[in-house]
Order: sequence, then C-alpha cells, then structure tokens
Amino acid sequence: MDKKRKLLCGEHGETNPCMVCCHLLSNSHVGYITASEPDDDPEWSHLREAWCEKCDYWWSKNRLFVWIYNLMTPDPRMVCEFCLEKIRDANARPNRELGWWERDG
Ligand SMILES: [Zn+2]
Ligand SMILES: [Zn+2]
Repeated sequence: MDKKRKLLCGEHGETNPCMVCCHLLSNSHVGYITASEPDDDPEWSHLREAWCEKCDYWWSKNRLFVWIYNLMTPDPRMVCEFCLEKIRDANARPNRELGWWERDG
C-alpha cells in the first residue's frame, strides 16, 4: 500500500510531484523557501513544497491575514522535481535552509 502518486511532466516524464507558489513560476529571485518537514498527511508525505519569501512573510501572520492573502493569490502549482530544480536555481538565495528531501541525499 505504498503507491505514491507520481506526476507526469511533459518535459521530464514521470517524477515526484512538487508544489510551488505561483510567484516562483512567474518571477525570478523571489527567494526559495522549502518545507523543512514532510506533510503530516501520509498520502502527501512525498510531496515537495516550496514557496517564495513573500508567501513566507504573509503565511507567518495570523489566520485572517493568511486567509485574505490566499484569496488574493493564485493557487499553488504542481511541478515535477526537475522543473523544481530549475525554479530553485532561478530563485534561491545563498545560505537558504534545505528542504527535507535535499538533506543528506
Ligand atoms: Zn509566493
Ligand atoms: Zn518537469
């Protein structure tokens, strides 16, 4: 019962699914923040998540701000793990914290 959902990328084929905020796709150098722990939901524990510094700032606010911010922000997008690497290269700053999937290989 360990069938993890894969994502089919038009460019890279079947890979691990990743979720990124809309800003990471449309801008560059918006920062690149990664989830430090896998999702609590076992069904999504393999999902790699990354978002920009703006989202990180607003999501640290209270629930009302988060709710409004999410309403005004386009939904996150699914990308493949190789597309995520390109997104990382376009946005990441030096000395960022590594995501859970990037630590010790
Ligand atoms: Zn964002
Ligand atoms: Zn891809």
